[in-house]
Amino acid sequence: MIGKLEGKVPPGPLEQKWRNHKNNSRLVSPNNRRKFEIIVVGSGLAGGSAAATLGELGYRVKCFCYQDSPRRAHSIAAQGGINAAKNYQNDGDSVFRLFYDTIKGGDFRSREANVYRLAEVSNLIIDQCTEQGVPFAREYGGLLANRSFGGAQVSRTFYARGQTGQQLLLGAYQAMCRQIALGTVKMFPQTEMLDLVLVDGHAKGIITRNLCTGEIQAFAGDAVVLATGGYGNVFFLSTNARGCNVTASYRAYKRGALFGNPCFTQIHPTCIPVTGHHQSKLTLMSESLRNDGRVWVPKRTEDCAKPPKDIPDADRDYYLERKYPSFGNLAPRDIASRAAKEVCDEGRGVGPGGRGVYLDFADAISRLSEDTIRERYGNLFDIYQKITAEDAYKTPMRIYPAVHYTMGGLWVDYNLMSNIPGLHVIGEANFSDHGANRLGASALMQGLADGYFVLPYTLPNYLAGQIGKRPSTDDEEFKRVESEVRERVKKLLEVNGERTLTSFHRELGLLLWDKCGMARNATGLREALEKIPDLRDEFWEKVRVPGEGESYNQSLERAGRIADFLEFAELMCIDALERDESCGGHFREEHQTPDGEAQRDDENFAAVFAWEFQGNGKVERPKLHREPLHFEAVHLTQRSYK
Ligand SMILES: Cc1cc2nc3c(=O)[nH]c(=O)nc-3n(C[C@H](O)[C@H](O)[C@H](O)COP(=O)(O)OP(=O)(O)OC[C@H]3O[C@@H](n4cnc5c(N)ncnc54)[C@H](O)[C@@H]3O)c2cc1C
Repeated sequence: MIGKLEGKVPPGPLEQKWRNHKNNSRLVSPNNRRKFEIIVVGSGLAGGSAAATLGELGYRVKCFCYQDSPRRAHSIAAQGGINAAKNYQNDGDSVFRLFYDTIKGGDFRSREANVYRLAEVSNLIIDQCTEQGVPFAREYGGLLANRSFGGAQVSRTFYARGQTGQQLLLGAYQAMCRQIALGTVKMFPQTEMLDLVLVDGHAKGIITRNLCTGEIQAFAGDAVVLATGGYGNVFFLSTNARGCNVTASYRAYKRGALFGNPCFTQIHPTCIPVTGHHQSKLTLMSESLRNDGRVWVPKRTEDCAKPPKDIPDADRDYYLERKYPSFGNLAPRDIASRAAKEVCDEGRGVGPGGRGVYLDFADAISRLSEDTIRERYGNLFDIYQKITAEDAYKTPMRIYPAVHYTMGGLWVDYNLMSNIPGLHVIGEANFSDHGANRLGASALMQGLADGYFVLPYTLPNYLAGQIGKRPSTDDEEFKRVESEVRERVKKLLEVNGERTLTSFHRELGLLLWDKCGMARNATGLREALEKIPDLRDEFWEKVRVPGEGESYNQSLERAGRIADFLEFAELMCIDALERDESCGGHFREEHQTPDGEAQRDDENFAAVFAWEFQGNGKVERPKLHREPLHFEAVHLTQRSYK
């Protein structure tokens, strides 16, 4: 029975909460730390930084990932940058401003104290990563350089060309490797967590499958940390790496962990448009490009087929600059995405199918030179050229919104612990500090804040009472969950139908994009809720999973993940239907302002929706718990970027 949801936000003034909480948190003494085994699932920026830091502190860490190396975690894909309130530009930035931009950017649907803490530790991240040798871009005089990202009127984004995630990940990986060499961290690559084990209601272990040999194994620990990333791939097409999935979070949910705001999905405005049925993935063009690129479409539909160079300036609609003069091309993602959809719905989109808008660098090139633009974004222009065979130095890029990030995730309290004692969730996998819309360059900040600077302080609050309580994998519960995992793997292989995995995944993704994507309404969501269970039934009758369980079998891996998506998609639609308001990326067509912006309903929906699995293994309507959101330092307003 889950009682009242407690965010466990510490008392006191906002700017003192974190300091006071650290001062009042429990400690585990150095000679006791080595007695604890911590299971960290995920070795991206969140998991890698947590594993390295916990190892450095002296805990014994077992770290798992499904890739062949931690260096291949999806975090490597992050291009544009990481925010911090250093105010190196002297342009008026501060911890409060970063906090305020983030909470407003999220349309006032995140926990105030968590967001303030995030802004507070942002500066430590930059110092730590610089010390590690992360090659952030620098100004001529040697100071670290900054650029702007959406939803901010200051330049606070630190970057390493268009490879920020990769460079930060190398930093975390090095730190983790040091611990691997010292023996405090043991790495288990190509090992997928397939279930969570609870002993006496506490998270005390996981069941995994070795992806090379198929061996199913149990691991016990004193606490479990999930850092398993986001689930954007539920939509089939997204900018996420192909392997990103919901399995670890969803299976923890089925064991009792609450899922927070599952319908909050970020649609990124600047991605290379879909070109056809052959695609299994979409490509992001970093938001940083909107520092210098101008977004436009033709004013008249009859001009849409003309080459862009033949459309004079007077006949172009720079719609973001027109609608949002204060933020212009750097309007936040949810707003810029909807604006692109709107002009395309009006028939003014460009490129095949009319689902594209221009991102044009001509002005920036004539102002700054092609060399400067190449230096800033060269690798992004190269990616664009390789995919579209077009030279964006000569002709504008064509872009369109695509699924990119999931603000929803497992519910956690201020200590980053879920409602299951011992189960902690960090990075994109938790329901996050980004509310209903994440600002650019804030995911890397959150993942590293959680792993380097928050979890190491909050985890001892749980561990201090757990000395000597680690169960053995011989415990009944481990045996029971392990046999359920074996049964499920066997069942997937036994269906032996004729329909491909991809066909199921694509059908689900298109349905979700259509009914629970950039815009949603009650009728569409109800339709999706009728169709998803049928598709799921068909999957279990007709799917074909070739190969066997005792060897390397990527089809089997995918099958398990798609089976989870087929259940999880229903939860997303239930959540989207229940939240009868618009906020951030959750745009319910029934609720818009006269200008077509998201219309919140603070009286009824200023709350985190946290869903509890019901159904004893089967999918039934989940139970809703609400965590009311209280705002002391900010005043809730209609978001405006005009
Ligand atoms: C193309 C692209 C560009 C981006 N650019 C930026 C940017 O410039 N700035 C920014 O702030 N954000 C950016 N983001 C978002 C950001 O990259 C991610 O939110 C962030 O990297 C997520 O980090 P993470 O550690 O939480 O998860 P991930 O990096 O996704 O790591 C997840 C880890 O969990 C493991 N895992 C998952 N499931 C299991 C399982 N069942 N068993 C075992 N292991 C498992 C994986 O192997 C992996 O190690 C971008 C996202 C995309 C898609």
